[in-house]
Amino acid sequence: MATVGFIGLGNMGGPMARNLVKAGHTLKVFDLSEQAVAGLVALGAQRVAKAADVARDVDAVVTMLPAGAHVKSVYLGPEGLLAAAAKGTIFIDSSTIDVPSARIVIAEADEKGMRMVDAPVSGGVGGAEAGTLTFMVGGSEAAYAGAEPFLKQMGKNIFHAGSAGNGQVAKVCNNMILGISMIAVSEAFVLGEQLGIDPQVLFNISSVSSGQCWSMTTYCPVPGPVPTSPANRDYLPGFTAAMMLKDLRLAQEAAQSSKTPIPMGGMAAQLYALMEANGNDQIDFSGIVKLIRGEI
Ligand code: NAD
Repeated sequence: MATVGFIGLGNMGGPMARNLVKAGHTLKVFDLSEQAVAGLVALGAQRVAKAADVARDVDAVVTMLPAGAHVKSVYLGPEGLLAAAAKGTIFIDSSTIDVPSARIVIAEADEKGMRMVDAPVSGGVGGAEAGTLTFMVGGSEAAYAGAEPFLKQMGKNIFHAGSAGNGQVAKVCNNMILGISMIAVSEAFVLGEQLGIDPQVLFNISSVSSGQCWSMTTYCPVPGPVPTSPANRDYLPGFTAAMMLKDLRLAQEAAQSSKTPIPMGGMAAQLYALMEANGNDQIDFSGIVKLIRGEI
């Protein structure tokens, strides 16, 4: 078993770190939230005084932070993780961040003789708790090989998406599909309601016809057809509209820097920005159906 450093013990990082403890690793943990640290210390993890200390005398480090700025501040500079770690240490950043930040940090890690991957996840808090996350991994073959055993202890499906940053590329593209398709399904079901079709009947037809997609068959935004979807618990998240907006804004940044037209992605970002502006971004992202119905 290994010694693993972990920074960012929030909604996702907390359960991911717990799964590494369960797998038998010794953990060194750090978070700005004392409460988050205490939860892991209670399971036997070792508290360290500052972020860089998680990288001392460890085999690997996992980070699960809000955004690119946090990741750069934790990894880079004289007080950063990369300055504190021994050559060969494996770094896994599972935060969802912008592609350039991921590539900058991994290039710096390469230069210092570390092995680092970007490995954002899909699967949400439920997947983090169950250890069934999907990891989309960017980095060299050597970095991937070093990270994979740890990723397998936190997730079920592990994909090597190519070179550094490609994990974030896969994540941003996937979540843009999800954001757009949720709006498409919501519009169709509201239109159907207005025209007098029973939502269950529309679901029975569309779920086996060409409109079929995950947003409909697994996460249907109207109550009834998929009993486990957030629509049946007043849009309690799940995956908040705020998180979806974050990912759609990352897609916008990526589209601008690569000069790629993504008109539907842009429209989706604007609709989720309306949910943010009217104070409804903490409900599940499928609650966008309420915006389309004019309820929020
Ligand atoms: P969170 O806000 O619950 O947790 C983030 C943690 O990082 C907090 O405990 C915070 O105190 C800590 N933190 C922030 N800055 C820090 C610093 N400089 N040093 C040490 N600790 C610091 O967020 P989350 O929901 O766990 O999400 C983490 C990442 O996972 C995000 O990038 C998010 O986009 C991504 N993600 C989240 C979900 C989800 O359903 N929550 C799903 C997929 C991906």
